[in-house]
Amino acid sequence: MRTRSDLHSHCSFDTLAVSAGRADFRDLGVHAPPIDLSTTYPLADLDEAGLNLERLAAGGHPDGSSVYARLHNPTVDRFERALASLEGTAEAVAFGSGMAALTACLLAAAQQGRHVVAVRPLYGTSDHLLSSGLLGLEVSWARAEAVAEAIRPETSLVIIETPGNPTLELVDIAAVVRQSGAVPVLVDSTFATPVLQRPAALGAALVLHSATKFLGGHGDVIAGVVATDEGWATRLRQVRVMTGALLHPLAAYLLHRGLPTLPLRVRRSQETAGELASKLLNHPAVQRVRYPGLAGGDPLALIGRQMEGPGTMVAFEVVGGHGAARKVMASLERMTPAVSLGATDTLIQHPAGLTHRMLDPAVKASTAISEGLLRLSVGLESVDDLWADLNRALHLALCSSVGVESLADSSRAA
Ligand SMILES: *Cc1c(COP(=O)(O)O)cnc(C)c1O
Repeated sequence: MRTRSDLHSHCSFDTLAVSAGRADFRDLGVHAPPIDLSTTYPLADLDEAGLNLERLAAGGHPDGSSVYARLHNPTVDRFERALASLEGTAEAVAFGSGMAALTACLLAAAQQGRHVVAVRPLYGTSDHLLSSGLLGLEVSWARAEAVAEAIRPETSLVIIETPGNPTLELVDIAAVVRQSGAVPVLVDSTFATPVLQRPAALGAALVLHSATKFLGGHGDVIAGVVATDEGWATRLRQVRVMTGALLHPLAAYLLHRGLPTLPLRVRRSQETAGELASKLLNHPAVQRVRYPGLAGGDPLALIGRQMEGPGTMVAFEVVGGHGAARKVMASLERMTPAVSLGATDTLIQHPAGLTHRMLDPAVKASTAISEGLLRLSVGLESVDDLWADLNRALHLALCSSVGVESLADSSRAA
């Protein structure tokens, strides 16, 4: 049995980020990963090819030819091996998007039982997928402390996200794993990246990333990936072969290209996020700041234990609700008003009106997704330039929200 992840247990994470998935470069005589765009492959022998096809369709690895690109692609395989190394898992399986990755996990789990337990908050579309009933699964929503009570004999998966989107609550992964017993736990670790958190070491069976975000890092790739053990990886590849939720090799190349700078990008953004969070805390236009690094932001003391730092995302509520939030987004000149996260530039978005728009109002209320809430994905710009931009937009919003409120009051009085 070959080991799929590179064996680098002796080197630091940053060294691994540079070298993962590149161990054969010298033998190949290359310095950048080769890109293989073939959709089909010339077959030397019919019977050998048939056996290979059978192996790949069952979710195995090729012995020789890839046969057909929906079954296997060497460039994607290389990125998967690199990501598995960074997460400390035996394997990883890449998909055409984060949602395709989650869907594949749910389809693979459903073969063991049609009930899943999920903890809110989750990414808006993950929540929507689970509550829509689209995949014919029954979902029990539970608080992180009450996962054990929600588990039934037919439960096949427990789903958590930490830090949670968009309010950045941290969930204790090891505690959820303990409560889940034999039921596998999926952790959406998109916000943390393997730089800050490696859930497999805490017992998570499946570590999911929307690779569209920090892993891609440059806002030009849609992708998803699941780091896991050999058994799950086999089932996920089987689902991928059957449903065709593939990652394109050019996208895999870009993802692999971004990994060496991942630690630098994440740590720099994290540093800036911490500074912005402290500044926001003292701004008169801001009612509340949600950032795990602030006092009270990490009630379970998970930073240091589960997560290496408080992360790169900051959420805050502006005084004046929806109107003020809208004004802030419209007034920013340097930050980009856009959904998504993990790009080189700072992005700002309004969860209630955008990423979490499709949620039931009661769910929005119970997960603190208010009309005044804005979510920042902190990029690589200088903190001074970012703060100047944000400070100015917040002052403009404060002025106009005071104006709008007094107007509203006078029209009500009239
Ligand atoms: C974006 C995101 C997803 C979905 O990923 P796509 O690549 O957009 O399909 C899932 N989970 C989290 C936490 C995300 O931020």
